[in-house]
Amino acid sequence: MQLQTSLLTIQQLATEKENENNAFVSFLKQQDADAIDEAVHTLNQSIEPKIDCTACGNCCKSLMINVTEEEADRVANSLHMNRSQFDESYLEKGSSGLMVINTIPCHFLADNKCTVYEDRFAGCREFPALHLPYFSKRLFTVMMHYDRCPIIFNVMEELKVKTGFA
Ligand code: SF4
Ligand code: SF4
Repeated sequence: MQLQTSLLTIQQLATEKENENNAFVSFLKQQDADAIDEAVHTLNQSIEPKIDCTACGNCCKSLMINVTEEEADRVANSLHMNRSQFDESYLEKGSSGLMVINTIPCHFLADNKCTVYEDRFAGCREFPALHLPYFSKRLFTVMMHYDRCPIIFNVMEELKVKTGFA
Protein backbone atom coordinates (compact mmCIF):
# COMPACT_ATOMS: atom_id res chain seq x y z
CA MET A 1 0.00 0.00 0.00
CA GLN A 2 1.31 3.45 -0.92
CA LEU A 3 1.71 5.67 2.12
CA GLN A 4 -0.48 8.76 2.30
CA THR A 5 1.36 11.86 3.52
CA SER A 6 -0.84 14.73 2.33
CA LEU A 7 -2.49 16.23 5.40
CA LEU A 8 -5.29 17.65 3.26
CA THR A 9 -6.06 14.25 1.74
CA ILE A 10 -5.83 12.59 5.14
CA GLN A 11 -8.33 15.06 6.59
CA GLN A 12 -10.72 14.46 3.68
CA LEU A 13 -10.39 10.69 4.01
CA ALA A 14 -10.95 10.92 7.77
CA THR A 15 -14.31 12.58 7.14
CA GLU A 16 -15.25 10.02 4.48
CA LYS A 17 -14.20 7.09 6.66
CA GLU A 18 -15.86 8.19 9.89
CA ASN A 19 -18.40 5.34 9.98
CA GLU A 20 -15.82 2.80 8.83
CA ASN A 21 -13.42 3.95 11.53
CA ASN A 22 -16.06 3.72 14.25
CA ALA A 23 -16.75 0.15 13.13
CA PHE A 24 -13.01 -0.58 13.09
CA VAL A 25 -12.60 0.66 16.65
CA SER A 26 -15.45 -1.64 17.78
CA PHE A 27 -13.84 -4.51 15.85
CA LEU A 28 -10.43 -3.90 17.45
CA LYS A 29 -11.90 -3.91 20.95
CA GLN A 30 -13.05 -7.49 20.33
CA GLN A 31 -9.61 -8.72 19.24
CA ASP A 32 -6.82 -10.12 21.40
CA ALA A 33 -5.08 -7.05 22.86
CA ASP A 34 -1.57 -8.56 22.81
CA ALA A 35 -1.91 -9.59 19.16
CA ILE A 36 -3.07 -6.07 18.27
CA ASP A 37 -0.12 -4.56 20.15
CA GLU A 38 2.25 -6.79 18.20
CA ALA A 39 0.63 -5.91 14.86
CA VAL A 40 0.70 -2.17 15.62
CA HIS A 41 4.33 -2.28 16.76
CA THR A 42 5.38 -4.13 13.61
CA LEU A 43 3.48 -1.73 11.34
CA ASN A 44 4.85 1.27 13.21
CA GLN A 45 8.43 0.02 12.84
CA SER A 46 7.91 -0.31 9.11
CA ILE A 47 5.94 2.90 8.48
CA GLU A 48 7.43 5.47 10.86
CA PRO A 49 10.90 5.57 9.20
CA LYS A 50 9.26 6.18 5.80
CA ILE A 51 7.42 9.31 6.93
CA ASP A 52 9.38 12.54 7.10
CA CYS A 53 8.26 14.38 10.23
CA THR A 54 10.24 17.46 9.17
CA ALA A 55 7.99 17.70 6.10
CA CYS A 56 4.92 17.51 8.33
CA GLY A 57 5.37 19.00 11.80
CA ASN A 58 1.63 18.83 12.31
CA CYS A 59 1.77 17.60 15.91
CA CYS A 60 3.96 20.58 16.86
CA LYS A 61 1.49 22.86 15.03
CA SER A 62 -1.68 21.51 16.56
CA LEU A 63 -1.18 19.81 19.95
CA MET A 64 -1.15 21.21 23.47
CA ILE A 65 2.14 20.21 25.11
CA ASN A 66 2.33 19.46 28.84
CA VAL A 67 5.50 20.55 30.61
CA THR A 68 6.87 19.30 33.94
CA GLU A 69 9.03 21.36 36.30
CA GLU A 70 12.09 19.27 35.39
CA GLU A 71 11.46 19.73 31.67
CA ALA A 72 10.99 23.47 32.08
CA ASP A 73 14.26 23.67 34.05
CA ARG A 74 16.06 21.71 31.35
CA VAL A 75 14.82 23.73 28.38
CA ALA A 76 15.23 27.07 30.21
CA ASN A 77 18.79 26.06 30.97
CA SER A 78 19.48 25.12 27.35
CA LEU A 79 18.16 28.52 26.26
CA HIS A 80 20.26 30.31 28.91
CA MET A 81 17.11 31.74 30.51
CA ASN A 82 16.10 31.74 34.14
CA ARG A 83 12.85 30.01 35.03
CA SER A 84 10.81 33.16 35.58
CA GLN A 85 11.80 34.49 32.13
CA PHE A 86 11.11 31.10 30.58
CA ASP A 87 7.75 30.64 32.31
CA GLU A 88 6.58 34.13 31.42
CA SER A 89 7.57 33.73 27.77
CA TYR A 90 6.51 30.17 27.07
CA LEU A 91 4.22 28.60 29.70
CA GLU A 92 0.76 28.89 31.17
CA LYS A 93 -1.45 26.75 33.40
CA GLY A 94 -3.70 24.50 31.35
CA SER A 95 -7.26 23.56 32.31
CA SER A 96 -5.88 20.48 34.10
CA GLY A 97 -3.75 22.72 36.32
CA LEU A 98 -0.57 21.39 34.66
CA MET A 99 1.83 23.67 32.85
CA VAL A 100 1.50 23.79 29.08
CA ILE A 101 3.26 25.59 26.24
CA ASN A 102 1.31 28.82 25.81
CA THR A 103 1.04 28.83 22.02
CA ILE A 104 -0.15 26.45 19.32
CA PRO A 105 1.88 26.04 17.08
CA CYS A 106 4.66 25.51 19.60
CA HIS A 107 7.15 28.36 20.09
CA PHE A 108 10.04 26.03 19.51
CA LEU A 109 9.12 24.96 15.99
CA ALA A 110 11.11 26.72 13.25
CA ASP A 111 11.18 25.66 9.59
CA ASN A 112 9.25 22.55 10.67
CA LYS A 113 12.08 21.52 13.00
CA CYS A 114 12.24 21.48 16.78
CA THR A 115 14.81 24.02 18.01
CA VAL A 116 15.03 22.31 21.43
CA TYR A 117 15.04 18.78 20.04
CA GLU A 118 17.57 17.27 22.47
CA ASP A 119 15.63 18.68 25.44
CA ARG A 120 12.08 18.35 24.09
CA PHE A 121 9.24 17.35 26.39
CA ALA A 122 8.07 13.80 27.15
CA GLY A 123 4.84 14.24 25.17
CA CYS A 124 6.84 15.28 22.11
CA ARG A 125 9.16 12.29 22.43
CA GLU A 126 6.29 9.88 22.83
CA PHE A 127 3.93 11.06 20.08
CA PRO A 128 2.36 9.31 18.19
CA ALA A 129 2.94 6.62 20.84
CA LEU A 130 2.37 3.62 18.58
CA HIS A 131 5.40 1.88 20.11
CA LEU A 132 3.71 1.71 23.53
CA PRO A 133 1.70 -1.22 24.94
CA TYR A 134 -2.05 -1.29 25.57
CA PHE A 135 -2.97 0.09 22.14
CA SER A 136 -6.52 -1.27 22.47
CA LYS A 137 -7.04 0.74 25.64
CA ARG A 138 -5.79 3.91 23.92
CA LEU A 139 -8.00 3.74 20.83
CA PHE A 140 -9.97 6.87 21.68
CA THR A 141 -6.79 8.96 21.90
CA VAL A 142 -5.24 7.33 18.84
CA MET A 143 -8.32 8.09 16.75
CA MET A 144 -8.33 11.71 17.97
CA HIS A 145 -5.06 12.04 16.08
CA TYR A 146 -5.94 9.91 13.03
CA ASP A 147 -6.63 12.97 10.86
CA ARG A 148 -3.61 14.86 12.21
CA CYS A 149 -0.73 12.44 11.98
CA PRO A 150 0.25 10.60 8.79
CA ILE A 151 2.00 7.90 10.83
CA ILE A 152 -1.21 7.10 12.71
CA PHE A 153 -3.32 7.33 9.56
CA ASN A 154 -1.14 4.87 7.62
CA VAL A 155 -0.70 2.45 10.52
CA MET A 156 -4.47 2.35 11.05
CA GLU A 157 -5.17 1.82 7.35
CA GLU A 158 -2.65 -1.04 7.15
CA LEU A 159 -4.00 -2.46 10.40
CA LYS A 160 -7.43 -2.75 8.77
CA VAL A 161 -5.87 -5.03 6.15
CA LYS A 162 -3.63 -6.95 8.54
CA THR A 163 -6.46 -7.80 10.93
CA GLY A 164 -8.80 -8.84 8.11
CA PHE A 165 -11.19 -5.96 8.82
CA ALA A 166 -10.75 -4.57 5.29
S1 SF4 B 1 9.08 21.29 21.83
FE1 SF4 B 1 9.77 20.71 19.79
S2 SF4 B 1 8.92 18.65 19.42
FE2 SF4 B 1 7.76 19.57 21.12
S3 SF4 B 1 5.96 20.54 20.19
FE3 SF4 B 1 7.58 22.11 20.37
S4 SF4 B 1 8.64 22.07 18.37
FE4 SF4 B 1 7.47 20.15 18.55
S1 SF4 C 1 4.57 12.52 14.45
FE1 SF4 C 1 2.88 12.56 12.97
S2 SF4 C 1 1.98 14.63 13.10
FE2 SF4 C 1 4.00 14.68 14.09
S3 SF4 C 1 5.38 15.39 12.47
FE3 SF4 C 1 5.46 13.14 12.47
S4 SF4 C 1 3.93 12.51 10.96
FE4 SF4 C 1 3.50 14.66 11.46
